[in-house]
Amino acid sequence: MKVLKFGKSLKSGEECGCGFKHDRTLDLVLLGPLSQALDMLEDLELKPPYAVFYDEITYRVAGRFVKEKLAAKGILMTSPTFQEAERGVAEARGARTVIGVGGGTVIDLAKYAAYKLEADFISIPTAPSHDGMVSPVVSLFEEGRRKSILARSPRIAIIDLQILRSAPRQLLISGYGDILAKIVSMKDWQLGRDERGEQYCKTAESLVLSSLNKLIVSLMNPPPPDEALEILVEALINSGAAMMVVGTSRPASGSEHLISHYLDMNLKERLPHGIQCALGALPMAAYHELRNPNWWKDEQYRLSALQGYFREVGLPTSLQEARVPIDVMVNAIVEAWKIRPKRYTILHKFKPDRSEALKLLRISALA
Ligand SMILES: [Zn+2]
Ligand SMILES: [Zn+2]
Repeated sequence: MKVLKFGKSLKSGEECGCGFKHDRTLDLVLLGPLSQALDMLEDLELKPPYAVFYDEITYRVAGRFVKEKLAAKGILMTSPTFQEAERGVAEARGARTVIGVGGGTVIDLAKYAAYKLEADFISIPTAPSHDGMVSPVVSLFEEGRRKSILARSPRIAIIDLQILRSAPRQLLISGYGDILAKIVSMKDWQLGRDERGEQYCKTAESLVLSSLNKLIVSLMNPPPPDEALEILVEALINSGAAMMVVGTSRPASGSEHLISHYLDMNLKERLPHGIQCALGALPMAAYHELRNPNWWKDEQYRLSALQGYFREVGLPTSLQEARVPIDVMVNAIVEAWKIRPKRYTILHKFKPDRSEALKLLRISALA
C-alpha cells in the first residue's frame, strides 16, 4: 500500500503567507487494493455507521463490495442534480462516515451529503476522469444549469488502480484533458493576481505545476501503462488538493472551464468534463499567447506543445473530431465570461466578438 500524506504535511496558511486560510481536511490517499484499504479505516478513526453512494454501474464495479465489507447502508444515485443530492442526504441520515464510489457525479453527490450531515467523507473514484475526487467543490445541475458550491474535501481517498484501469477510455482521456487545461487556468489566475490584486497561493501553485510537469514528462517518455495511470491520478489528486488548500476552484478552473460550463448547457450531447475543458484550453492558450505578455515562456507550455500532448493521449484536436458544432463553440468563447462575471480571466479582459472567436479557433486549429 502506497500512502500519500496530505493534512499536516501541507503548509499551513501562516507558513505559506498567502492570506488564504489553508484547509487541510484531506489527510491521506491510499494507493493500493480496495480491500486492504478498507481494513485500515478503523485504525484511521473513521467510524460506522457507514453510508455508501454509488450508481448502477459503480455498484457493480466496487460499490457492492464496499457496502458488504463495511455493512454499510447502500444508496443508489440516479441523476446529477442537487435535488438528487438532497435525497441522498435524507437517506444517509445517521451515518458518521459517507463514502462515494464512482466517477465525478457520485463522488460529488456523496461529498454533498457528507458535508450536510457533518460526516467524514471517503472518496473512492472508479475513473480518472477529472480532479473532483478530492476537491471540496461539488458541481451538479439545478434546473438544467450547472452550479458549483463549496463543500468539504474527503478525509481519505482510496485509489485502486485495478479499478481505475477498467474505466472507459473516454474517461481516462478526460482526466488528461482536465490536467492539461491547467496550463490555461493557472495563467488566468495569475492574470487576476496581477490585474485585480487577487490572492494567490504558492502552495496551490506548486501542487498543480509539479504534477502537471510530471505528467508532461510521462507523455514525452511514456512509462509502463500502470505507472502512467498513477501519474495521472496523482495529478488529479494534487489539483483537487490545490483547490482544497485555498477553498476555491480558482487554481484549477479558468476561462477554459467557463467554456466547458457553456458547453454543458448548450451541447445536445455533452462530452466528458475534461474533454470539454481541453477543447476550451486550445483557443484560450492561443488567446493568451496573442494578448498576454505574461503567458508562459517555457516551450512545454506553448500552444503547439499542448496540441502535441492532445494527439499523444487521444484528445480531439478539431471540433469536427469532437463533434462540436462550430457555432456553439464560437458562442461559448463569446459568452462564457458571463457565466461567472467575477472570475477574472483572459475572456473577461478582452471580451472577444464572433470574428475574434473564429480567429482563435483557426489559430488553435480547432476549426
Ligand atoms: Zn475540471
Ligand atoms: Zn497558501
